Amino acid sequence: MAVLREDTRRRRVLRGQAVMLTKDRAICVRVVDYSETSQVVTLFGRSGGKIRAIAKGSKRQKSAFEGPIEPLSFGAIVFSGVRKDQLATLTEFQPEPVRGELRRNLAALQSALLAAELLDLLTEEYDPHPELFDHFLSFLQDMEEGKAGPDPRDFLIRLILFQFVLLHEAGLRPILSACVNCRRAFGADWRESYFSAAANGLVCRDCEMSFPDKIRLRPKAAQCLADIKRIAQADQATLDEIEQLLIHHFTHILGRPPKLAKHVFLP
Ligand SMILES: [Zn+2]
Repeated sequence: MAVLREDTRRRRVLRGQAVMLTKDRAICVRVVDYSETSQVVTLFGRSGGKIRAIAKGSKRQKSAFEGPIEPLSFGAIVFSGVRKDQLATLTEFQPEPVRGELRRNLAALQSALLAAELLDLLTEEYDPHPELFDHFLSFLQDMEEGKAGPDPRDFLIRLILFQFVLLHEAGLRPILSACVNCRRAFGADWRESYFSAAANGLVCRDCEMSFPDKIRLRPKAAQCLADIKRIAQADQATLDEIEQLLIHHFTHILGRPPKLAKHVFLP
C-alpha cells in the first residue's frame, strides 16, 4: 500500500509541472491534415532545427492561429514538448506578412515546394542549421516580394544554389572541382567531364570507365559545377542540365525521386 501511495504522489507532482514552452522563428515545410479541425505541421526552426507538431484547432474559424497553417509560411512559433519521438504541441504561430508573389507564379511555387521537400528529407529533428534556415528564408522572401522572376531562370538559379547549400549542410557536398577518383583538378584541358552520384562528384575521362552510373556533362555545366559562382550567369539549357543532375543525385541519396521533382523538372 505504501508503494501505491508513493506512485500516486509522484504522478501528481508530474502533472503539476509547468509546461516548458520553446520559442523559435520557423518556416513551415510540410502540412498534413490531422482531423477535421487540426493539422500536423513540420516546422524548420532557426535555433532548434526541425520539429513536428500538432496545431490543435488550426482549421477552425476561431483558433489560436490565424487560420490554417500554410506550407512555406514563416514566422514566430511557440511550442511545448521537445522529445524526438513525440509530436510537439504548437501553441502559437504568427506568420510574417508577405506580398504573396510566390503563389502567383507556378514555377516559383514549385521550386519552393521542392526545396521544402528536400529540406525535410535531408534534415533530422532537433538538429539546428541556422545558415540553411537563413538561406531558405531569403529564397522564400525573394519570391514572395517578387525580387525573383518573372523569368523562370531566376527561380531555377535560386533553387540550384539552395540545393548546394542543403547538400553542404547535410554533410553530402559533392566534390566538383577535381576528379573524385584521381584528384586531378578540373580545368580547360578536360575534354570530357562526367558526374557520378555513387562517387559523389566529378569524374575525369581517364576514370569514367570505373563508374557505371556516370552521366556525361556538357562543358558549360561542368564549368558551372566547378565554380558555383558561374551559375548566376548560366543560360537556361545549362541550368536545366544542372537541375536534372541534382535531381538525379538526390534520387540516388534518397533511394527514390523527390515527389515534387518528377512532374516538373525531369524531361
Ligand atoms: Zn580521374
